[in-house]
Amino acid sequence: MITSRGCTYSLCTFCFESSPFVREKGFRRISVQRAIEEITYLINDYHVKEIAFWDDEFLMDHEWVDVFCDEIIRQKIDILWSCFGKVNFCSLPLLKKMAQSGCKNIFMGLESGNQEILNFTKKGQTLDMMRNAVRWAHEAGIEVRGSFILGLPKETPEIAQSTVDFAIELDLDYAQFLLNTPFPGTEMHEVCKSGKYGTFDENAGFEKYTEHTALFLPSGYKNKEELLSIQKEAYKHFYFRPKYFLRKVKNVRSKEDVFRYFRGFHFLLKTRVLKNSEF
Ligand code: SF4
Repeated sequence: MITSRGCTYSLCTFCFESSPFVREKGFRRISVQRAIEEITYLINDYHVKEIAFWDDEFLMDHEWVDVFCDEIIRQKIDILWSCFGKVNFCSLPLLKKMAQSGCKNIFMGLESGNQEILNFTKKGQTLDMMRNAVRWAHEAGIEVRGSFILGLPKETPEIAQSTVDFAIELDLDYAQFLLNTPFPGTEMHEVCKSGKYGTFDENAGFEKYTEHTALFLPSGYKNKEELLSIQKEAYKHFYFRPKYFLRKVKNVRSKEDVFRYFRGFHFLLKTRVLKNSEF
């Protein structure tokens, strides 16, 4: 489901929300009442048990989220849900209320484990803010999926490694390591095009803007292959750890969980670890 469009922050240089064309449309959202009606409709007519909210930034309007959770709890709506949430908007009380209303997973855009690079992307968050948000979510009983971008301007292989180490330090439930994709219209596109921080394949067709193609190569890397191999290693380092494996085994509650983990593992091997080229 989507309850809103736009983002009130709109500064992150890599995000399409920061392009003037998208930004001028502003942030708009359906009412809590309408969201609850849609959820009830999905449960009653389609027997839906779980909803993923694909709002670019679900936690943006704190008050809305608060009232939304209150309504789910008050009406005893039996639904599991997940959403995207920026660490700046996380607080322990809110996360606890979200968990109580059925939230089981938050996807956080963490981007980098290096403060200088975070600042350069204008993400507006610090490493400590990320540490706190992940800790609070876990304390509330919510899983965290962290998303990182590799190959940002000023990044070196050593910095990329520190990002992977940071993902492990945070004890994330899931992590993804995407490649910097300078979408047209964003500030990142202009920065990469300037040639100041590396080389950008400006002539690549739009089908290459997949977040798994090395369109931009920061000056700190020898070649594209090095960046792609760092991305592959990042997945191996994060997922192939005894501690991670044991935690997942401990969390198995049903045969559906076994099936889900197996499918996830198979997907990871096929598309991230054993893949031989960008796509
Ligand atoms: S990354 Fe998130 S917070 Fe940043 S501009 Fe995009 S939607 Fe807004």
